Amino acid sequence: MQSHLYDRVLVLDCRNVLMGTTSVRGVFVSIFRDEMDVLEYRHGVYIRSSHRRHRVPEVVRWREPVRFIMYRSLGPTRRNVLLRDENICAYCGGTGYTRDHILPKSRGGIRSWENLVTACEECNRKKGARTPEEAGMSLIYTPRKPNTLTLIISRPQKAPIPKSWKRYLEPVESTGT
Ligand SMILES: [Zn+2]
Repeated sequence: MQSHLYDRVLVLDCRNVLMGTTSVRGVFVSIFRDEMDVLEYRHGVYIRSSHRRHRVPEVVRWREPVRFIMYRSLGPTRRNVLLRDENICAYCGGTGYTRDHILPKSRGGIRSWENLVTACEECNRKKGARTPEEAGMSLIYTPRKPNTLTLIISRPQKAPIPKSWKRYLEPVESTGT
């Protein structure tokens, strides 16, 4: 039964904004301290401690505004951009493992979902610190802000996404930083 300690929990901030996911273990203390409310429990599943059994949370919400940012993990990190683009290089359609700023950082390009694409090493090197036009390269797809569901589902999962999560998932806000 201890394995349920590592089941995923969806975390919302006090204004119902999706922050990300963490493990059951990661939220238990906050729930016992009354810092979080549990909005959804798993049905028919319990975690046993020495004298009690505890229901397993599936969606939780912070009661107070929280300072630390968990949803950073849902921003356009290299890993998330590669997940969104399914490792397809935006320039040649090959398999890519690097993240490219379409408008280069040195030219004022920002770290946003719309300005970042997956690129293979060869295309990334070829493009360098130029715009696609300058490099004579074109994008084979338009990068867009993904839905959080897409990102969460694209990650390697040990277990299926709980049905109760679906209505809490929403498009990711662009960070633009
Ligand atoms: Zn390429």
